Amino acid sequence: MILGTGSAWDTACVQLADAAQHLGLDDGMHDLLRTPRRSITVSVPLLRDDGQLLVLSGYRVQHNLARGPAKGGLRYHPACDLDEVKALAMWMTWKCALMGIPYGGAKGGIAVEPGLLSRQERERMTRRYAAELVPLIGPDKDIPAPDVGTDEQTMAWIMDTYSTHTGHTAPGVVTGKPLSIGGSAGRAGATSRGVQLAAFAALRELGRDPRETTVAVQGFGKVGALAAQYLHDAGCRLVAVSDVKGGIHNRAGLNPSALIRHLARGADTVVGYPGTDTITNTELLELNVDMLVPAALEGVINIGNADRVRAPLIVEGANGPVTAEADHVLTGKGTVIVPDILANGGGVAVSYFEWVQDIQAYFWTEDQVNDRLRALMQRSYQEVSALARERRVSLRTAAHIIGVARVAEAHRTRGLYP
Ligand code: GLU
Repeated sequence: MILGTGSAWDTACVQLADAAQHLGLDDGMHDLLRTPRRSITVSVPLLRDDGQLLVLSGYRVQHNLARGPAKGGLRYHPACDLDEVKALAMWMTWKCALMGIPYGGAKGGIAVEPGLLSRQERERMTRRYAAELVPLIGPDKDIPAPDVGTDEQTMAWIMDTYSTHTGHTAPGVVTGKPLSIGGSAGRAGATSRGVQLAAFAALRELGRDPRETTVAVQGFGKVGALAAQYLHDAGCRLVAVSDVKGGIHNRAGLNPSALIRHLARGADTVVGYPGTDTITNTELLELNVDMLVPAALEGVINIGNADRVRAPLIVEGANGPVTAEADHVLTGKGTVIVPDILANGGGVAVSYFEWVQDIQAYFWTEDQVNDRLRALMQRSYQEVSALARERRVSLRTAAHIIGVARVAEAHRTRGLYP
């Protein structure tokens, strides 16, 4: 095991190296699979409402295109940089391959705190970023989707900007867009539904009764809030959740729908919710619970806290929440980790369904979407778990072996140009 510095890019490279070793890939193929196909940095000048000009940095990395057009989210976060986007793009490549959907991997981002911008500023920034990317994106080229700090409105602005530039309405250029412009039923909750399905598959394998399973969810945002809701609805006891401001804990159980309503009514944090104890994000990650769902940012479980993480099961709603070093510590003490590229693959799976519906201009019911999502999650989980048993490796290593092998195979089949 090669250990790195704990950055997302480092973790992604360690995971690839691990899979490459198991697959016996030669150095050339390993290099080809590690190196992003295209990385672009764009300047995003933004005229603030007060007349001030702010020049932001935007990124888009198309990590791999061997299996299909590039696919991956767009992130607005102050800590976003090219290395992070490269890592997130690489994870999308393996995720799409593992889920068996015909895409390569990509990711984009702007280094910005979107909460500090007005809606008009966010719109101008998004449209300028999209305009810079017009030559690179498109339904057959690269298809952005929401990620941290972006939402369906962001996708609508990108779709409109792209469509205006190309002269025709192109719903398939983004996924995770509103239903009124070609979004899919079931997309908004898809990542969280996938997290619940993956978590239940793991509980079944571990012989655990969901009704006797306590859960802590780190990050009560787009993925975490609905994951908490679905896990609770399916019988688990949600005992702690958190957001950027801190966390709340109640051993007797929290009601996620009441918390979601509380935020919808204008509260800016779960902290202080009546009948709960306040805890920190650090404390939440170290709680004595049966299942931990990190659903915010990468690297939250790292070499500094891995030995204090007590949950025997971690289901990764976020991308890269556990660094390579922490993974080593946790698997060493028997923690079962359902890795990101499997556990949160439901999001991009339903993005694929949305894109297919856009291309066919024929839309499915929410039940059809959810049934197909369930089938895809179950198939992917079973493939990973069977390989993990056969090779006596962790679920993460097995998931990466499958994803990386499929991409390597696509490269071999296509051959090298020229
Ligand atoms: N941002 C999500 C992810 O990391 C979704 C990507 C997509 O749907 O393209 O998987």
